[in-house]
Amino acid sequence: MSRIVFASNNPGKVREVAELLRPTGLEVVPQSEYLVPDVEETGLSFVENAIIKARNACRHTGRPAIADDSGLEVDALDGEPGVISARYAGENASDEDNNTLLLAELAGVPEAERRARFQCVMVFMRTAEDPTPLICQGTWEGRILEAPQGEGGFGYDPLFFVPDSGCTAAQLDPAQKNQLSHRGQALRTLVKALRREHIQ
Ligand code: IMP
Repeated sequence: MSRIVFASNNPGKVREVAELLRPTGLEVVPQSEYLVPDVEETGLSFVENAIIKARNACRHTGRPAIADDSGLEVDALDGEPGVISARYAGENASDEDNNTLLLAELAGVPEAERRARFQCVMVFMRTAEDPTPLICQGTWEGRILEAPQGEGGFGYDPLFFVPDSGCTAAQLDPAQKNQLSHRGQALRTLVKALRREHIQ
């Protein structure tokens, strides 16, 4: 069984990735097991940032690595917060700070113009110098509410209304969210790509 490093220290994400990759026979371990230092996400796109994180993990462990980069795009804000979603309200901003700023920026914007989507790019690199990383993407369409609803999830989930489900991402249980979410979609596409490439 091959060991793959997951370039994130978020335990929720590590669990999600390990679970979806289990049928492939791949063992996923968080980069914290190898004491991989965080790397600055200097890219202008989700793809660049995911590659930066995967390459950093490969370089420090000598193992293949998976990394994801994700964020929220709001049409009325020309795609913001985008790649800076985690630090929208500042370098050490909390989820609540980011959500408060988002609501302030959208004040007065009518419901029909509050379209938004989560984006996720998932990258697999065989080595730090891999010239052909596997790159998969997932997108989840929704709308930004005028006030938070729900206690689950993280980040912008309480403001992200999912029309097909009739509730926010924070009101879905984790299995439902995995089925629908940008990250779940990107990961399932990556699993297919790994199989196609006979990576096991
Ligand atoms: P990263 O991919 O860990 O860098 O996350 C980027 C940021 O995007 C997070 O800190 C959240 O603010 C936001 N984000 C990404 N995915 C989700 C999600 O599933 N729900 C809510 N917020 C998310």
